[in-house]
Amino acid sequence: MFLLKILFTLAAIIGVWVVFRAASRMARGERRTTPAEEAARAARAATEARAGKSVDLVKCPSCGAYHDSGTPCACRNGRPE
Ligand SMILES: [Zn+2]
Repeated sequence: MFLLKILFTLAAIIGVWVVFRAASRMARGERRTTPAEEAARAARAATEARAGKSVDLVKCPSCGAYHDSGTPCACRNGRPE
C-alpha cells in the first residue's frame, strides 16, 4: 500500500508537469513539432540558404566527370601533384 501511494504521487507529479509544460507551450504560441516536421523545416532552411548560389562545374581532363571547380576530381588525376 505504501508503494502504491508513492507511485500515485509520482504519477500525479508527472501529470501536472506534462500539463504545465503543454500549457506554457500553448501560451507562447508554439505547437508541438514532430521530428519529421523538424527535419522538413531544416531541409527547407538549407534549400533557401543555397538558393541563388551556383557552383561552377569543370570537366576533369582524365576521367571526364564534372566536379566543383574549387575541389580536385575524385579520381585524383585532375589535380597536379
Ligand atoms: Zn577525374
